[in-house]
Amino acid sequence: MPYSYDDQNIFAKILRGEIPNDTVLETGHSLAFRDIHPQAPTHVLVIPKGAYVCYDDFAQNASDAEILDYTRAIGEVCRLMKVEENGFRLIANAGTAGVQEVPHLHVHILAGRPLGRMLAPA
Ligand code: 5GP
Repeated sequence: MPYSYDDQNIFAKILRGEIPNDTVLETGHSLAFRDIHPQAPTHVLVIPKGAYVCYDDFAQNASDAEILDYTRAIGEVCRLMKVEENGFRLIANAGTAGVQEVPHLHVHILAGRPLGRMLAPA
């Protein structure tokens, strides 16, 4: 399905420098910054700089260079935040059922406490 990108979403504003952020890593095609409402001691969001709504949109429509950069950036943030030893979780919410609040692709990197089972009971 084609995705329609809303360039007024909060992460688009962060990318344009209209809203401040606590940057952890910036690469050619990606930006990582701390979540404003952290759910764990480490809670970093990694976003592509390109206008992609969700992971499916990105996987279908991003260039190989963007996909490589984004994938490597997520790994680099894990190393920077030193989360490999005790473990971490990556989450990419999408759409209504996924309860995606901000319609610009982002991966949450969560770590620093036991994170429980993957899904809470409905
Ligand atoms: P989603 O539910 O879309 O997967 O997650 C969106 C995340 O963005 C939430 O964890 C929320 O706390 C975070 N967020 C929303 N607005 C801002 C903001 O202005 N700055 C930062 N750093 N994070 C934000």
